[in-house]
Amino acid sequence: MIAEQLKARIAQHGPLTLAAFMTEALFDPKAGYYATKDPIGAGSDFITAPEVSQMFGELIGLWVMQSWHDMGRPDPFYLVELGPGRGTMMADMLRTGRALPGFTDAARIVLIEASAALKSVQAQSLGPSGAQVSWVDRLENVPAGPAIIVGNEFLDCLPVRQAIKHDGVWHERMVGLDEEGAFCFVLGTHLGIDEDLIPPRLKDLPDGMLAELRPGDRLFVHTLSERFKHHPGRALLIDYGPAQSEPGDTLQAIRAHEKVQPLADPGTADLTARVDFEMLARFATESGLAAFGPIPQGDFLAALGLEARAAALSQSSPEKRPQIARQIWRLTDSDQMGALFKLVCLQSPELSDPPVMSAD
Ligand code: SAH
Repeated sequence: MIAEQLKARIAQHGPLTLAAFMTEALFDPKAGYYATKDPIGAGSDFITAPEVSQMFGELIGLWVMQSWHDMGRPDPFYLVELGPGRGTMMADMLRTGRALPGFTDAARIVLIEASAALKSVQAQSLGPSGAQVSWVDRLENVPAGPAIIVGNEFLDCLPVRQAIKHDGVWHERMVGLDEEGAFCFVLGTHLGIDEDLIPPRLKDLPDGMLAELRPGDRLFVHTLSERFKHHPGRALLIDYGPAQSEPGDTLQAIRAHEKVQPLADPGTADLTARVDFEMLARFATESGLAAFGPIPQGDFLAALGLEARAAALSQSSPEKRPQIARQIWRLTDSDQMGALFKLVCLQSPELSDPPVMSAD
């Protein structure tokens, strides 16, 4: 259905930017991938760190609790999650948070979620916690006040654009239709003023090279900075991508845990692109935020006491020992999620350094 819609649009108005294609494929309110499906988990399309192990959300919860303490224990404060998926990480964080007196009473939980299907899964997951939860569609709609914001695999869903160097000039790489009416990439016009979205490290690449542009990240960081200028706030973003800008096409589509062709069947597969952590930090500092990290996920979890938590869990359920060992491997091994996944903290400049992260 999305494919037909997009094809009609291209036939009428010409090729689309990749960002426009991704936005419809993921978020069309009727047929978009996130609008219609619960894609996360073993039987679905992909699996994420909070779904691998409860220890992930518990340790992120510890980081948040320490942050709340360091920020002067604001009461109330907004505990916001971007793209909470099945609500597992928030449930694990809240369970952990009960150990710190005052923390859960002070927290106003706000979930930012585009998918109606996932909102209802989140409501079910968080029901037992007894927490008052509200949903908003975008960061701008979170009420004013101090905030701690977390997001796992949120930024990788933000639409990207692509550009190709051709005759010494960056051109937009667009999505058009081939002679058989199938989606294909075509070369568009010069980027013009949008050239400032090309990562500086990649600007002088030779002809034929591809660079990704992340207007969605820039807008997101700008919105964060507007908020954090007026209300103290700290955001922890967890995602996959390189520490420094790299050339090349990182768009990928995943269906049923397999990579599929990204343009083939929009709306039926998850479309993501790697996060460029260097550009993210650049956008943040340009807009007046303090940026810390990126730190590899394996190092971050180890610093927060993953081994000690695993030992405690193994002691109370010895039969789960092999399973827990496997979870640690998935979360921290450098060939699994330990190195490609990274964490950054963006925050109001006046706050003290965040737990376990050092300044750039
Ligand atoms: N954090 C979860 C889910 C990751 S999948 C986990 O780790 O398991 C991405 C999530 O972000 C989904 O819940 C998706 O619906 C949501 N999402 C993606 N882009 C969004 C946007 N622009 N606004 C709100 N939610 C978004």
